[in-house]
Amino acid sequence: MPANLWEFRNEPYADFSEPRNAEAARAALALVRSKLGAEYRLRIGDNSYSTGDLLSSLNPSKPSEIVGLHHKATAELANQAIATADAFFAEWAKTPAPTRVEMLRRAAAILRRRKFEFDAWLVVEAGKTWPEAEADVSEAIDFCEYYALQMLKLAEPDPLVQLPGEQAVLRYLPLGVGVIIPPWNFPLAILVGMATAALVTGNTVVIKPSSDTPTIAAKFAEVLKEAGFPDASYTLLVGSGSAVGDLIVTHPRTRFVSFTGSREVGLRINELAAKPQKGQVWIKRVVAEMGGKDAIIVDEEADLDEAVQGVLWSAFGYQGQKCSACSRAIVSSKVYDRFLEKLVPKVEALAVGPPEDLANYMGPVINERSRKSILNYIENGKKEGRLVAGGSAAAGDGYFIRPTVIADVGPEARLFQEEIFGPVLAVSKARDFEHALELANNSEYGLTGAVYTQNPAKVNEAAERFFVGNLYINRKCTGAMVGAHPFGGFNMSGTDSKAGGPDYLLQFVQAKSIAEKIA
Ligand code: NAP
Repeated sequence: MPANLWEFRNEPYADFSEPRNAEAARAALALVRSKLGAEYRLRIGDNSYSTGDLLSSLNPSKPSEIVGLHHKATAELANQAIATADAFFAEWAKTPAPTRVEMLRRAAAILRRRKFEFDAWLVVEAGKTWPEAEADVSEAIDFCEYYALQMLKLAEPDPLVQLPGEQAVLRYLPLGVGVIIPPWNFPLAILVGMATAALVTGNTVVIKPSSDTPTIAAKFAEVLKEAGFPDASYTLLVGSGSAVGDLIVTHPRTRFVSFTGSREVGLRINELAAKPQKGQVWIKRVVAEMGGKDAIIVDEEADLDEAVQGVLWSAFGYQGQKCSACSRAIVSSKVYDRFLEKLVPKVEALAVGPPEDLANYMGPVINERSRKSILNYIENGKKEGRLVAGGSAAAGDGYFIRPTVIADVGPEARLFQEEIFGPVLAVSKARDFEHALELANNSEYGLTGAVYTQNPAKVNEAAERFFVGNLYINRKCTGAMVGAHPFGGFNMSGTDSKAGGPDYLLQFVQAKSIAEKIA
């Protein structure tokens, strides 16, 4: 279908309150349960390997349950993965763009067909509730469709100025071998977005999934195969960041790294990639999307009920484990007490427990290390402010934590400055709107932010001066939609690559200008 006849539409979400969908979810879960504990070999090109060194991925709601057993790469196999991608690059780069686009659209169709099954894998391996899982899989489908469409546009760039006696064109060429490193918190959508943007533009990729969510990655590798992507165009390389991450980042044949994850790891990758290796003839490109300490400003001229709801969803959806999660509510002193009075009972009413159960709003945090770190932040936070909700682990076998709110937090507090990545909200008092903006910008991060106010002058002020990559007015600060909210942050939140936006693919190509003298 020509690009102009095919319009992009966001994938609709299934509503699990409908009995038909709830039944389909149960069936998908039964299917996934029948496959728990399966072994996944490492495949590089046409060969598959059992290294015997197994990574067990666990269900964070029930850590005694093994979701998948994955053969980890050795250093030798990591080198081989890069060499295979490098050897195949020239052929893949020559594959016509419409052929690659067709494969990507087939991948979208396969994901759509297997949507509930993918939802179920996200429930058991990432601890997502069904609606959160549905949003993750829908976003993955959106990325495939949107980047397919954008690739067709990139294949036919706008005409250049034509000088007399010359014919000039611009072509976008793929870069080479890309290393793709996604986080566990959107283990499908972010992996799919970064990998398919690189593939559809003609690059070959080595994908190193998060050690917490390798099974979801393995399931997507099945989709790429079924969609027709050649074996040598992509390798899924399971292994820890320390064991294989540094190796593939520093490899001289790696042309670019596309990373999403923490500030610490992103900065390390950026530093390692900057150092040229023996035999390397290019400057590696690094796209790094990193953490956030996102704030919602609640002004005295806001609809307070809407603001409370927006903060609640943004702070506690997926247990606060979103880079876009609201971890700071900055509230005008004129409505501060009323805001807390309205917020606290709603927080206490949130149901926490295994996300397989549709009645639970919050599931577990991802792993034991995370649980400990979040509980430490909470204990320290009790000294930095006033605990008004939650404040401890929640009952159950899994890594459950009660949604926690700490009020009266000052700007110097760790709770105010550091990314916690869990269900913990700091609430701070602002003297006026000017002070609220100052507090919101008092962060080394700059990813998302929201402002609740009915005053258009304050909306304009925020648009001018709230320094974040994604600003929302009178709505929550999570839930960016592909095509509508190109996503990426300022400052230590990353390189502002704007995933799901019209410029995103430019990061995976280099432009070549060709001018020919004509008679
Ligand atoms: P992380 O610990 O930085 O890990 C991210 C990825 O990097 C994982 O695949 C990890 O593998 C890998 N890694 C670790 N050390 C490495 C190394 N030395 N070389 C190469 N790769 C290495 O982050 P996370 O805990 O998975 O994710 C949470 C973070 O991601 C939060 O900070 C969140 O804000 C951020 N995030 C940002 C965005 C955004 O768009 N800005 C979106 C989502 C999440 P292992 O699992 O094997 O260690």
